[in-house]
Amino acid sequence: MFRQLNKVVLSADVYAVCIQHALSTEKEEIMGLLIGEVDDSNISYISAGLILHRSEKKSDRVEISAEQLCMASTHAEQLAEKLGRPMRVLGWYHSHPHITVWPSHVDLRTQAMYQIMDPLFVGLIFSVFLSENNVGNQVQLTCFQATDNYERRDVNIVIEKVPLRDYNLKNICELPKILIQEEVEIHNTKCSKNDDILVNIHNEAFKTLSLSHLITKISQPICEDLEARLEVTNLRIKELEKMLIELKRKSDEDKI
Ligand SMILES: [Zn+2]
Repeated sequence: MFRQLNKVVLSADVYAVCIQHALSTEKEEIMGLLIGEVDDSNISYISAGLILHRSEKKSDRVEISAEQLCMASTHAEQLAEKLGRPMRVLGWYHSHPHITVWPSHVDLRTQAMYQIMDPLFVGLIFSVFLSENNVGNQVQLTCFQATDNYERRDVNIVIEKVPLRDYNLKNICELPKILIQEEVEIHNTKCSKNDDILVNIHNEAFKTLSLSHLITKISQPICEDLEARLEVTNLRIKELEKMLIELKRKSDEDKI
């Protein structure tokens, strides 16, 4: 029987991972996969994300390889086992830096191809760094599927408030590692060893510059954010412990 996706419920922590990933580069598109469960009313509940490593960086398109899809399925299976719920790959996300949020023809064709394999597969696009009418950077999100004639069909999306779960936190922490790996790989394929020592020094200097940029712009802010989060959590623990002592005291008084 034909199944049509009715709605997407995106967990706030996955939304945070996607935004953090999209904001990591202003020059190229980034991409990842979305994992979760679908209920009997064809509503997708996305509760985990997977940041994908790009073998080539392009400003106007992204491609997911068969190996990456396979890797994501394995990741979903591991999560299913850990959580005791039937998790699977439900869709993909990518970014549009400096352009509108609407899917391109290539995006719609890619989306249609995934829907052949899974009619409920969904696409999310995050448009970031777009500034219109002198309003600062705006973040826009679209949730779509492709029709049979490669047109966009908007799918309702809601963001569900949830605490940051360990497996999504791990994803955020992996981001700098993935970006550094991509940078080193691209440098190694594009800049093969040259006979001219000055060319080699120049290329190595550029690699160092890009890596230090990643550390200051990505790793350091993530560390600072996580430290601030830890501080707030510790304060909450202290407050809750105080409340617990107070409640115990009151209950002991009541008994007397
Ligand atoms: Zn696109």
